[in-house]
Amino acid sequence: METKVAIIKDINTDIRFIEEAGKVIRNGGTVAFPTETVYGLGANALDDEAVKKIFIAKGRPQDNPLIIHVSTKEISGLVKDVPEVAQKIIDKFWPGPLTVILEKKDIIPNVTSANLNTIGIRMPNSEIALKLIELAERPIAAPSANISGRPSPTEVERCVEDLNGRVDYIIGGESSDIGVESTIVDCTVNPPLVLRPGGITLEMLKEINPEIELDKALKSKPNDDFKPKAPGMKYKHYAPNAHLKIIKGKNEKTIEIINEIVENYIEKGNDVAILTTNENLNKFNNGKVISLGSENDLKEIAKNLFEALRKCDDLGVQYILCQGFEENGVGLAIMNRLNKAAGYDILRSE
Ligand code: AMP
Ligand code: MG
Repeated sequence: METKVAIIKDINTDIRFIEEAGKVIRNGGTVAFPTETVYGLGANALDDEAVKKIFIAKGRPQDNPLIIHVSTKEISGLVKDVPEVAQKIIDKFWPGPLTVILEKKDIIPNVTSANLNTIGIRMPNSEIALKLIELAERPIAAPSANISGRPSPTEVERCVEDLNGRVDYIIGGESSDIGVESTIVDCTVNPPLVLRPGGITLEMLKEINPEIELDKALKSKPNDDFKPKAPGMKYKHYAPNAHLKIIKGKNEKTIEIINEIVENYIEKGNDVAILTTNENLNKFNNGKVISLGSENDLKEIAKNLFEALRKCDDLGVQYILCQGFEENGVGLAIMNRLNKAAGYDILRSE
């Protein structure tokens, strides 16, 4: 299939590209587009044949439901009920990196919800995404715009790398400032549960309702009979081609251990990349060192995370060693993605 790639430089002068992409969605095609979290691969959420194309293009397991993207807070046409706490969350955090899980109406095909009677919905805070949804005149189902299992794209070049020839249209023009996927809050239970940490932190949600908690599955490594609330929780995710290992603990000890492991790998003839912070950049003796940002700015680290994992693959290394981060604020989302990307290969340096 031929993929059209259009980069939006100015949303007013380049509006024809978004109109064209909106038409592709209306006609049952697939469009990758920027959002503030990561790039999404979209199709008409109400058309099961269109949604199937997303699963095929990504190689995504069919029991992993999609998030529906809307351009308005008015979602009564899509869900049976919006409980009070969900409404408060929507009012406070939309448009933004926050997905609510609610009971779906029958208008949403089972392919979109992967046979669940619930659906995830989000209003993204991206000018291009909102315009696309508006011009498509339909809600857009969209998981991240990567081949299933790979790090999510935060730059249009990464969508092209993964999806060129597999989708109808790719729109670029914004890079994803949040850099990790939306926070998912299950509002079908009371109090609501966070199923996936993201840009909106648990601390921010607790300001709305102090009883909102993390789902138990987020607190431990999944075992074989793990039955997750969010089917996506069970899959290997976000992984680079190189083997990723996390080293977490006191800073000086972490650096010491990373230096030791690097020597060991290099002696055996392997290439190694190190993911670290600006502050630690000069503390390594060997290996290809990449900074994720300042240790004082977890938002910057989240924004750079997936792109850095892909850069390590560009370097052709066999191993990536990444220092761990504190699991509060956005740090929780960073560690959630890193743990999965590493297949839970975590070494404690204390
Ligand atoms: P992606 O955007 O590729 O990260 O995938 C969407 C994520 O949202 C997956 O992890 C899904 O499991 C989760 N999700 C979507 N809809 C639901 C739902 N109804 N219930 C629970 N999780 C959901
Ligand atoms: Mg994804």
